[in-house]
Amino acid sequence: MGKQKTDKGNSQTRGIIQYRGSLKSCNYSCSYCPFSKHPMSDKELGKDKTQWFAFVSSLHEIAARFHICALQVVPYGEALIHPWYWEGLGDLCGISEIEAVGAQTNFSFSLPEALKHFEHTGGKREKLRLWATFHPEMVSVADFVGKCQKVLDEGIIFCVGAVGVPENLTLLQNLREELPREIYLWINKMDGLNRPYSKKEKEGFTVIDPYFAYQLNPVLSDVSQCRGRLFVEGDGKLRTCNISRNWQMAWEELCQAASFPEPECGRRVCSCYLAYGGRADFAYRDVFGDYSVFRVPVEK
Ligand code: SF4
Repeated sequence: MGKQKTDKGNSQTRGIIQYRGSLKSCNYSCSYCPFSKHPMSDKELGKDKTQWFAFVSSLHEIAARFHICALQVVPYGEALIHPWYWEGLGDLCGISEIEAVGAQTNFSFSLPEALKHFEHTGGKREKLRLWATFHPEMVSVADFVGKCQKVLDEGIIFCVGAVGVPENLTLLQNLREELPREIYLWINKMDGLNRPYSKKEKEGFTVIDPYFAYQLNPVLSDVSQCRGRLFVEGDGKLRTCNISRNWQMAWEELCQAASFPEPECGRRVCSCYLAYGGRADFAYRDVFGDYSVFRVPVEK
């Protein structure tokens, strides 16, 4: 597996925020996904936009004070088909403290339009980190690979991945073969499988994603490994990571605080990559660097 040019690993702790707006909708309609069945009204989309811009604006105030150096949008649904997310990400690139901004996406956005909005507000491509998920019900391997190549040609750093559905193994092997070697392809374990993967399936997915097996054993929680992390929702609710319990404090209060609060957890297991992948002791931090939640291997 090759590597795109990214930030190199560094032992200094840097704060990272994951943001989820009130958006709960998607332009795709995958059969297993609840967000495909929830269209949003213009009013609801307007609220999401207002909350996002308010958050972006407040980040200008606090990024230096709390040494927040990265921001990842982790939406319920698809955020990057909405221009305001690109505009906000571009705007955040102007904060000197911020080294990386990005989002999870299905890669269905119009690339020229997206870059127009991103760069109009000062977006710097070298700071952009995208996490693209391949949805085989909605797009062919050829079309997805074609989009990956276009994004790569624009000098954008990204990873791609898919859920490890056993029936899709051959298809995902084909995706690996067709993708440029420098693009990392992750495979997430299938939550609803209700049985262990067979030896053959495990080997097949591990050939595609060398780190696949790590997620098959529980990662026990240890909140001492989550300092400097924050998960912010559009309405200001705070958590340490995407699955930990809500804090008593809200975003507006945190913005007035003198120091970054201690993390809180409430979970026994860090059950997904967004959680365990952001821990300071994440087993593959040397592979994925300081901003490991973006899931892009760093150059050594
Ligand atoms: S569940 Fe979240 S907050 Fe708790 S230890 Fe795991 S990553 Fe940290």
